[in-house]
Amino acid sequence: MTWGADVSCAGETYDAVMSALAVLAHDVGMDTPNCIFCQRTAEAVPLIALEYRGGAFRICSQHLPVLIHDPTQLVGLMEGAETLQPSEHRD
Ligand SMILES: [Zn+2]
Repeated sequence: MTWGADVSCAGETYDAVMSALAVLAHDVGMDTPNCIFCQRTAEAVPLIALEYRGGAFRICSQHLPVLIHDPTQLVGLMEGAETLQPSEHRD
């Protein structure tokens, strides 16, 4: 193993990560707030702004019940969703 080989490998990894992040940022439309569940923006649906664990995100009026009653559906979409407890149905 040589240092030259290590540096070259690290550089390629960095480039790959950065390009992957750029694609990801483009896909989720980070510049336009949207529902974490359906990705629709406030142009299409009313969005509710939320804060959780130091981050901010939005969810639309249609999917707010998912957050309240079935937060496990948000696992993978919202950090910490797996720790949320569903609210009891009282109807
Ligand atoms: Zn939605």
